[in-house]
Amino acid sequence: MRIETHVAIGRAISRQLGLDPYLKKCFIRGLRRPDLRVKRERRVRSHLGIHPESIMSIVWSARRAYLTGDYVRSLEHLGVALHYVQDKCVVWARRRLRRVHNRVERTALSLELPVEAIREDFGRAECSTIFVKSILYSIKPSADPVEALRNACYYLALVAGAVYNSSKPPRDLIEKYEEAKAMAAKWRRIRRFLVSALALVFCGLLILYPHLLAIYFIAAILSLPLLFYSGVDPRLREELAWYGLG
Ligand SMILES: [Zn+2]
Repeated sequence: MRIETHVAIGRAISRQLGLDPYLKKCFIRGLRRPDLRVKRERRVRSHLGIHPESIMSIVWSARRAYLTGDYVRSLEHLGVALHYVQDKCVVWARRRLRRVHNRVERTALSLELPVEAIREDFGRAECSTIFVKSILYSIKPSADPVEALRNACYYLALVAGAVYNSSKPPRDLIEKYEEAKAMAAKWRRIRRFLVSALALVFCGLLILYPHLLAIYFIAAILSLPLLFYSGVDPRLREELAWYGLG
């Protein structure tokens, strides 16, 4: 999207975030950064086809900075991530759709922002990493300027709301955290026992059958995942990390 559209939606989002003029400036600076970088460093590839996981990692940086109270850094990261989200709302391809892309961008410039819808969408956001991921993977590029602008506002409000709506974990997540801690402690004990038992078995076999060294080596490599298994669902671990737990 055009820089003016990025900034206009950014201003509407910053009102929802209740930013003071300085923080608003930091947020807008982040929003403008990807396009300024493309202009400055001509070797930087266009970011229109950026992968959702790459955007997610920037959203994570915004969330982590927010949890540590570094709002300036957090808003700059959020600005960059939202820029990529906005750009993904407009249809794009290297040659064939380039003209359509430019037309959508040009028309979107003159459209009025759905401010009321932004406010409603912002309040609807769930403060969760699973929610943000589902949003990033559901973005559909559009060749219709009205739809592209509406989608951009919708996705931006949801992602911004998911990052800033709450820094306190919900009660059920705290309960799951306590359960996960107990489970991790249990697995630590099991792991310690298994590793000691396997080491003894390997040593015994090595003394009895030293010519099978290669097989012992492969078996040791295959047992490595045991050292890293914590018994906690990786998705739950991510949700906990979203609130700085674990
Ligand atoms: Zn861009």
